[in-house]
Amino acid sequence: MPELPEVEVTRRGLLQDLPGARVQRLWSSGLPLRATVSLPRLRRHLQGEQLSTVDRRAKYLLFRFASGTICSMHLGMTGKISLLRQQEPRHKHDHLELQFDNGVIMRFNDARRFGAVALWPAKTAEECERIFSSREGLEPLGTDFTARALMQLAAGRRAPVKSFLMNGRLIAGIGNIYANEILFAAGVHPQRAAGSLSLADWDRVTSATAQILQEAISAGGSTIADFLGISGHPGYFQLQLKVYGRTDAVCSQCNSRVERLVSGGRSTWFCPQCQPLNKGR
Ligand SMILES: [Zn+2]
Repeated sequence: MPELPEVEVTRRGLLQDLPGARVQRLWSSGLPLRATVSLPRLRRHLQGEQLSTVDRRAKYLLFRFASGTICSMHLGMTGKISLLRQQEPRHKHDHLELQFDNGVIMRFNDARRFGAVALWPAKTAEECERIFSSREGLEPLGTDFTARALMQLAAGRRAPVKSFLMNGRLIAGIGNIYANEILFAAGVHPQRAAGSLSLADWDRVTSATAQILQEAISAGGSTIADFLGISGHPGYFQLQLKVYGRTDAVCSQCNSRVERLVSGGRSTWFCPQCQPLNKGR
């Protein structure tokens, strides 16, 4: 499943070619995604419109048009966006295509169709975005993502810190891989109650989050051409995974072995030495 870094890299790739261009032609497979907009409605609001920029909120891409209209896209489980320089035969799971007046064609391909497309017409776009944004958690790469803010958000919560990090309504876009890696880098046991972490713990968690997400974005940024190419599936970046999926591997920081447990229904890996459970405040 594309996680926040993959979505961010997609955004940066789109920014290289699309802003300033106008939508010339739209096509849709007509097959339903998790949320879809009918082709006539897309045409009515986007045809001839100039794209100003592409933003990201949580794992949503927000295509902002000069008219004020916003089109949001979520990649779901298997969605990917590619840019083509010229028309090519469509693939089986292509569901949406926007051709721009600079010749670039953007395609949305999604085998499992859990992706989502929404359209907020200019008149109501601001209000729609406000409501949408209020349902998403703190942006882990934003300026509000501080140790103090997290400590406040976690106050009184008994849920494991790993579930806390992965709760999209509290924090946007951190999936299982990144949650495991962040907690290892921060030296925090994944099953500690979120409300029990000290400010110093949160300090390490926020630094580790920034560092790991940036590393992932850089790793993706270096292969941005593949990422946006029609043949390449985004998948996960070649992050140097320290604990995720590494049951019994020797820890990269000590001589202990990485252990696996199931927390909140998800596989969880950690180093019992580097991430002690009984670390009181
Ligand atoms: Zn260790």
